[in-house]
Amino acid sequence: MSGQWQVAVDRDRCIGSGLCAGTAPAHFALVDKKSTPLHPLVDPDEAVTDAADCCPVEAILITDPTTGTTLAPL
Ligand code: SF4
Repeated sequence: MSGQWQVAVDRDRCIGSGLCAGTAPAHFALVDKKSTPLHPLVDPDEAVTDAADCCPVEAILITDPTTGTTLAPL
């Protein structure tokens, strides 16, 4: 497993609830009322997977960039 995780947000799916930015403010911010990852690659951090798990429309995808394995949501 790679040392870092890849963070992606599907802005078409995002409904701008802000839950991710509230759960992981170091990793997500709302830009034009849609979530945007602040860093596409991050060191493993439970706040990132928590944010992906709490998104009501599953717009956040956390993957291992070396294997493509989905880490959250599961
Ligand atoms: S939790 Fe999901 S729907 Fe809400 S702002 Fe974040 S990505 Fe968008």
